[in-house]
Amino acid sequence: MGKKHAEKRTPSRTKTPTFLLELPLVADAGQAARVGAHLEVGRQFYNAVLSAGQRRLRRMRADPAWQAARAIPRSRKQERKAAFSALRERYGFSEYAFHELARKLRVAWLAEHLDAVLAQTLASRAYRALNRVCLGKARRVRFKSKSRGLDSIENKRNDTGMRFVLQPGAAGRPQGYLLWHDDQLAALIDWDDPVVAHGLAHEIKYARLVRRRTSSPRAQGADREGERYCVQLVLTGLPHHKPKHAVGSDTIGLDLGPASLAIVPRQAEARLVPLCAELRPDARAIRRLQRKMERQRRAANPEHYDDKGRPKKRKQGAPRWKQSRGYQVSRRRKAARERKLAAHRKSLHGRLVHQIVAVGHTIITEKLSYRGWQKRYGRSVGRCAPGMLIDHLRRTVASTGGTLHEVPTRSTKLSQYCHGCGAFVKKPLWQRWHQCPCGVGPVQRDLYSAFLAAYLDPADLTPSCAQYVIPWEGAEARLLAAHERATQRANEGQVVPRSMGISRAGARLPKSPSEATQELLFLSRRGKVEAWKHRSEPPALQPGESSGGLCVNSSC
Ligand SMILES: [Zn+2]
Repeated sequence: MGKKHAEKRTPSRTKTPTFLLELPLVADAGQAARVGAHLEVGRQFYNAVLSAGQRRLRRMRADPAWQAARAIPRSRKQERKAAFSALRERYGFSEYAFHELARKLRVAWLAEHLDAVLAQTLASRAYRALNRVCLGKARRVRFKSKSRGLDSIENKRNDTGMRFVLQPGAAGRPQGYLLWHDDQLAALIDWDDPVVAHGLAHEIKYARLVRRRTSSPRAQGADREGERYCVQLVLTGLPHHKPKHAVGSDTIGLDLGPASLAIVPRQAEARLVPLCAELRPDARAIRRLQRKMERQRRAANPEHYDDKGRPKKRKQGAPRWKQSRGYQVSRRRKAARERKLAAHRKSLHGRLVHQIVAVGHTIITEKLSYRGWQKRYGRSVGRCAPGMLIDHLRRTVASTGGTLHEVPTRSTKLSQYCHGCGAFVKKPLWQRWHQCPCGVGPVQRDLYSAFLAAYLDPADLTPSCAQYVIPWEGAEARLLAAHERATQRANEGQVVPRSMGISRAGARLPKSPSEATQELLFLSRRGKVEAWKHRSEPPALQPGESSGGLCVNSSC
């Protein structure tokens, strides 16, 4: 949340720790309509800034000086930096320049709805989106359509414009209100909730208004449009720490895969757990809704498909896509499902994070390219969100005074390393075990990587044989026990990703060996075949390279 306010020109603003508290708001029909109108104006304003900014970006990139600056080798850091910043200056592509732009764009009727500071935060938001394109981190920016709208707006201070205040209320307990223009939206505050009470005892940096769509207008707390409002308070300080969440002092090595996690502490019990296995039914329900929507789309738009049922190429002047009433219902239902899935995932992540932190708060893991994973294991990553898990862990660990060390994969290569002989040997994807001619192993590879990470010295990242000799004596049995427990759970019918290398008696093999690509098959409980992707090593195999040696787990 540490945003630099360029207009103040204070280069060394110290970041204070920040946490969030979300409170539901009560909005009557009139208030909801007015807030909706403000948000609509915010949307148009955001699009206007984004569009103007995009023009600036395009012009800047078309300048021959841009190519010249790109041609400067990265080794000449200063020169390169100076060249780019001169270009940014000339074309007005900076957060500060965007604030200026916002000041010019916020005219007449817009100004009635949008305070100057809110306009600035929207301009910053547009700048950040465009800057990602500028830096090559994103391909394009997305304008906010009228139907989707702008769903959040934030201030950057809590004394003017949209702000949150506490006023004396009934029974000696203050009542909170979000003030915006002439409206007062009451917040529902449960003062008996220690998290809420803790949050409201802290200083409010600024408030953010969030609008969420519900499954239907009849959902609890929804207005006529089927929308709910809530306020997110950005607070100074550290989040509430529940007494039930103990903090351990061990050092833990983690090895994260798209669908599994190996946890190896230096002393305590090692674990190999599937990530978010509980989310599979939710994901399946969403898939069914997607297929329903596809059928509805086809039924309403036959002109967009050729006689073989293939979608036609989109041309200019083609008829608009029609949305049937039923389609809109399904879409809303799917959106609600997705929201629930996200919330469920978050709670599962939270539980896992607390389990980890209860063992230790010094955590060493390999830094992984989540983007690369997204390309290769889209579905698992989409469902399990391993990157979010790490972010969550990092925040929690930091708030308890520990550290999360992310070591670069390229230099450590833990998944290839063998501490017995010091050799780096790439394992193909299907090989789930580490077994070396020098006598180390067999041991499940993810657990082994996590073990190597646990005893890594964050100051010196090259693994050496000597440092592992003594730990290995104690760890080998623990790792085997962890794998044994995972196998047991699989036998009891718990779903395990195939990447854990657990085979079961009576497991079915894939019919054709050609299916044995990186997307390995996974037979779930009901015998349905689902693609289950599993972890790779960064210097990865080419798709389709792995073959043979496959075993498929099925439960039942
Ligand atoms: Zn070896």
